[in-house]
Amino acid sequence: MGLIVQKFGGTSVGSVERILNAAERVIEEKQRGNDVVVVVSAMGKTTDELVGLAKQISAQPNKREMDMLLTTGEQITISLLSMALNEKGHEAVSFTGWQAGISTEHIHGNARILDVKKERIQEQLKNGNIVIVAGFQGVTEAGEITTLGRGGSDTTAVALAAALHADKCDIYTDVTGVFTTDPRYVKEARKLFSVSYDEMLELANLGAGVLHPRAVEFAKNYHVPLEVRSSIEREAGTIIEEEVSMEQNLVVRGVAFEDEITRMTVFGLPNSLTSLATIFSTLAKHRINVDIIIQSTTSADTTNLSFSIKSEDFHEALQVLANNKTVLNYERIESEAGLAKVSIVGSGMISNPGVAAEMFEVLAASGIQIKMVSTSEIKVSAVVEEQQMLKATEALHQAFELSGTKVQL
Ligand code: ADP
Ligand code: ASP
Ligand code: MG
Repeated sequence: MGLIVQKFGGTSVGSVERILNAAERVIEEKQRGNDVVVVVSAMGKTTDELVGLAKQISAQPNKREMDMLLTTGEQITISLLSMALNEKGHEAVSFTGWQAGISTEHIHGNARILDVKKERIQEQLKNGNIVIVAGFQGVTEAGEITTLGRGGSDTTAVALAAALHADKCDIYTDVTGVFTTDPRYVKEARKLFSVSYDEMLELANLGAGVLHPRAVEFAKNYHVPLEVRSSIEREAGTIIEEEVSMEQNLVVRGVAFEDEITRMTVFGLPNSLTSLATIFSTLAKHRINVDIIIQSTTSADTTNLSFSIKSEDFHEALQVLANNKTVLNYERIESEAGLAKVSIVGSGMISNPGVAAEMFEVLAASGIQIKMVSTSEIKVSAVVEEQQMLKATEALHQAFELSGTKVQL
């Protein structure tokens, strides 16, 4: 007898009918002789609707109260799913994040899980109960309720699977697995048979919303076998594991994209040893995440610095830099909004030089101008105009043979 953690996302519990369907998938797992822990998201678009309600009252709602509000979404689903299981003749008990022993750091809106006190769940499993846990939430040492960032229910599921030493964590969602790119936008996208933790981590961090990046991080660190699969279709999903075999290993395995990026350029910074450290520590202090950085020195005395940030952070970044102009001692700032980042990912890149060059050639041939570039061992990212994001994705998807028959289905 094993232990399985199942996670059902918003669409998969978006109506009474879908909740009853999820209950069936839970019961099937239980009837295979496994203990089952289920993590659920808020129903359908509930979280977005709650955010909308708050915005009608306050342009910048208090972050603690926002967490109090948003965590109610998942609480609705856990109780309904538990009732559904009861109706179908199965013992089940629902827990909020704090009842399930999920403790987090004290940051509202984007807290990290620090610890899982698993005794309460284990006690219920021993009694033969199916345990249902609200995703996306936890509690601080001081007893404050926190959320884990949008899409964070995946992380709850994998963290529980790691803590409980589960045999597997199944992420049930509205697509049949991880695809070569987002199938909602690119119809040629193909389902991958398997993908490595490292590739999935890059894809998730670079915009592939199918898994929360921190969930992949947990899975990698604690060796949690993970599968992304459909809550409706019965077919096998995508396995996320340590290594994928070479035959399946195309050089590029996926294309990810992310819009709403702004490039800021700071002109005339003093060309001193500490200039860069000062500007980026100032931004970091205000929790502004800088992504790609390009420095260009045009004279012996001064340097220019370009960096990309999420567009939602632009006004705060500008304000922070303006407030610190005397210390930073720059001449002026320019910015360009309406940008997007398109990235190719694949572990095969490590041993294949020339992948970046090929990417640039493909984009050039499609008449797409590259504004910024960044690379790591297994990815290349290019910042382009937002209007060209999907065109770039499609061109790369085709050029790196992801649309063809080579991809394992
Ligand atoms: P859930 O509510 O189940 O957590 P999400 O909306 O968070 O579902 O994630 C599933 C969505 O992720 C899909 O509908 C799809 O549009 C999107 N997605 C983005 N990139 C990919 C990809 N590479 N493979 C599969 N789905 C992707
Ligand atoms: N309900 C939360 C959200 O919509 C968390 C999740 O679904 O994973 O972001
Ligand atoms: Mg999700």
